[in-house]
Amino acid sequence: MMELKGKKVLVVGLGKSGLAAALFLRRRGAQVTVSDVRSAEALAKDIPALLEAGIMVEAGGHGLLTFRRQDLIVVSPGVPLETPELAQVKSFGLPVIGELELAGRFLKGKTVAITGSNGKTTTTTLLGEILKEAGFRTLVGGNIGVPVVSLIDDSTDETWSVLEVSSFQLETTVEFRPNIAVILNITSDHLDRHGTFENYALAKERIFAAQNAQDYVVLNADNVRSAAAAARSIARIHWFSVEHSVLQGAWLKQGYVVYRPSKDAPTENIMPLGGIPLKGAHNVENVLAAVAAARLAGAPADAIQRAIENFRAVEHRLEYVATFNGVEFYNDSKATNVDATAKAIAAFPSGIHLILGGKDKNSDYTQLAQLLRERVSAVYTIGSAASKIESHLRGIISIHSCETLEKAVHAAASAARPGDVVLLAPACSSFDQFENYEHRGRVFKELVGQWQGWKVWQDA
Ligand code: ADP
Repeated sequence: MMELKGKKVLVVGLGKSGLAAALFLRRRGAQVTVSDVRSAEALAKDIPALLEAGIMVEAGGHGLLTFRRQDLIVVSPGVPLETPELAQVKSFGLPVIGELELAGRFLKGKTVAITGSNGKTTTTTLLGEILKEAGFRTLVGGNIGVPVVSLIDDSTDETWSVLEVSSFQLETTVEFRPNIAVILNITSDHLDRHGTFENYALAKERIFAAQNAQDYVVLNADNVRSAAAAARSIARIHWFSVEHSVLQGAWLKQGYVVYRPSKDAPTENIMPLGGIPLKGAHNVENVLAAVAAARLAGAPADAIQRAIENFRAVEHRLEYVATFNGVEFYNDSKATNVDATAKAIAAFPSGIHLILGGKDKNSDYTQLAQLLRERVSAVYTIGSAASKIESHLRGIISIHSCETLEKAVHAAASAARPGDVVLLAPACSSFDQFENYEHRGRVFKELVGQWQGWKVWQDA
């Protein structure tokens, strides 16, 4: 464990994890400074607590001297590592790590880390529920909204920490060594930040970079890039697949979720496929990944089955909202990339009225063409990506330009017939019109409620 007492540490970026890291470092006796490019006004709500704790705050930009004077720099996942200040101190040899790396050095007990382009939050939450059901001391955190440093004080040698880790967090790990590392899938996302698909994939592979031969990696056998990662890991590889059996890991067999601990061991029945309460084949993948990790952690099959049967979709992840006049409404506001949207479409056979758009992430929407033709009745576009989406999908599907979510909900709900589905799965980030995807999802749910009220009133 590293000594922090008296160390000079700079925390760059005052997000949720930056704040938690700064307070943790201070509690452990470090001399802490926080630097953020946002103005003092923008940071106002956090500054009093920092000053109170004896932490120095630099707002409105980074001073090069502030950076040079440190023993350690802890950088938040939102901060690009190429900023001139960081590039320079790195070239001086100063250690630059992230909150995950910092926390990993102090967290007690065992760790499962889950990464992937999609499904992290769902799988992390589910695995946390399974381990709790199995009676393990379980903590859940990471990219899911609970900074890993805030788990440290509650962790003991018996704890299992289930951590959602993003590619941004993994960019700044060094010694971070989960006992079980899960890569759910690697598909295009965040190319605006990582540049190329391969860079992004390599950042995800850092999840197992510090593992040894006693540790485990769980990989998706059906996802080409995730499966390819096996070649670069020295840990024990386990698999999950919805398409075929695997040597060791979890798969589907005659309507059952099954698991095999090693290639010579007998296959265990975990639960019937029909007992999974979540929509969509992608959620079966998440369940299989969670089953493999849970069995590796030692959870018994009956606890796994109970926890899965009681699990409900995490808010904004293909979340059921309501049924009105035979039309179902689903909120998948978290579908912020093309692959997640494709999975959401694939969860319904036909009659989908799909709301697409928001802020483009350099995506190729033509990838949706076949699914749109097969299953979607019409597309309703919103936000700044609308014209790009329309140009990509012209001639493939009927498109209504709605600009706002409100108009899109009205148009989609009015056009839908009994048996149809109105689906918000926008394939874009939300920042052009909303604070974040949660805000967009909440507004969608409110609009659905309002539209129903209006319709009841109009029909009366
Ligand atoms: P993450 O934390 O990786 O963003 P979430 O569980 O929050 O993952 O889900 C993000 C989006 O991706 C949601 O729209 C969800 O419906 C979809 N999704 C969930 N699991 C998968 C998967 N295994 N493959 C593809 N899409 C998925």
